[in-house]
Amino acid sequence: MEKETKCIQGGYTPANGEPRMIPIIQSTTFKYDTSEDMGKLFDLEESGYFYTRLQNPTNDYVAAKICALEGGSAAMLTSSGQAASFFAVFNICGAGDHVIASSAIYGGTYNLFNVTMRRMGIDFTFVDPECSDDELNAAFKPNTKAVFGETIANPALTVLDIERFASMAHSHGVPLIIDNTFATPVNCRPIEWGADIVTHSTTKYMDGHDASVGGCIVDSGKFDWFAHADKFPGLTTPDESYHGITYAEKFGLKGAYITKATAQLMRDLGAIQSPQNAFYVNLGLESLHVRMPRHCENALKVAEFLEAHEKISWVNYPGLKNNKYYERAKKYMPEGTCGVVSFGVEGGRAAAERFMSGLKIAIIATHVADAHTCVLHPASATHRQMKDEELVAAGVSPDLVRLSVGIENVNDIITDLKQALELV
Ligand SMILES: *Cc1c(COP(=O)(O)O)cnc(C)c1O
Repeated sequence: MEKETKCIQGGYTPANGEPRMIPIIQSTTFKYDTSEDMGKLFDLEESGYFYTRLQNPTNDYVAAKICALEGGSAAMLTSSGQAASFFAVFNICGAGDHVIASSAIYGGTYNLFNVTMRRMGIDFTFVDPECSDDELNAAFKPNTKAVFGETIANPALTVLDIERFASMAHSHGVPLIIDNTFATPVNCRPIEWGADIVTHSTTKYMDGHDASVGGCIVDSGKFDWFAHADKFPGLTTPDESYHGITYAEKFGLKGAYITKATAQLMRDLGAIQSPQNAFYVNLGLESLHVRMPRHCENALKVAEFLEAHEKISWVNYPGLKNNKYYERAKKYMPEGTCGVVSFGVEGGRAAAERFMSGLKIAIIATHVADAHTCVLHPASATHRQMKDEELVAAGVSPDLVRLSVGIENVNDIITDLKQALELV
């Protein structure tokens, strides 16, 4: 199937007489005839459902659709994008381990790594995604377990050289984890470029309508855990909490990583998406391939308008020909990047705030990447915990305004921007 068909039909094929639409299985528990039947599920001897804290059929249908879109081998939904980032990393490392992350990542992920996961004893090195190969190489340590980056960074809008990061990670025997939230699998499939694990905040374009918070993790099934068995004992040695099964042995390379994340992390931490929210994500996925091209088309027109405006000091959009990442974006995302544009208003922070308060169609919201046009000043909102030098390292200047271009009529959006700029 092509991606458009996968958006509509992937992940769920009803049998004779079953509902056409993915059903919402709004049930915490599942019934079994004998204790033995249920025991087999608890032992991971058979696959099936017993408690929605770990797994639910609605979620699995939707995860299977995202898995098909990304070209992965297995996937799971999580309660949020934050939970997806946390699980994706924590599934393969623990106290005493080390992870390399691009410094140009989402502010929430940066805090998760740099503050909360450090408190768990995991060490992080943040590298400039444009650093030299030598610098990247030098960031690896004997205890490094993963490399993490974003296809298009939120909000810096830098485009990661996924192939380079993948080959560097692989030469050190560790997987590359890519947060593909902004590009979505409609525009970029990181697994085709060497990524091993892909994460999403489904809250953004996948849901696409401001309706539900959620996340997803997709495993490519390609990383050979056994080839680096000493680095990944959690996958290659027996799990005593499941009667000594070894995930990579019992579930193979295609299933081990997601099964472990479900069986251990969901069991113990329970950050599962509600089936109702998974249903909304599926509705969004069905039109994702129609919405993404429109987001990109509108964003390009808005970026061109802003670029020509005298009160705008700079515009950053990887779809603009003069953008630093234009060529790389064309390679990884030939059909378009995303709907998010960032820019600076002449006059800095105060001018940006005046401009934003004059907007009528573009609303101020701590959100991006959905049907409604919205705008945010990261330095005073999502990134306010970061110091100025951390902001700069993350590619976020204090005057940066992030505009998420929706799929309204683009002339209305531009008219709105125009009148708000007149007030500055
Ligand atoms: C929003 C976002 C997240 C976090 O997702 P939530 O669903 O808000 O928890 C992670 N990564 C990126 C790139 C995001 O834009």
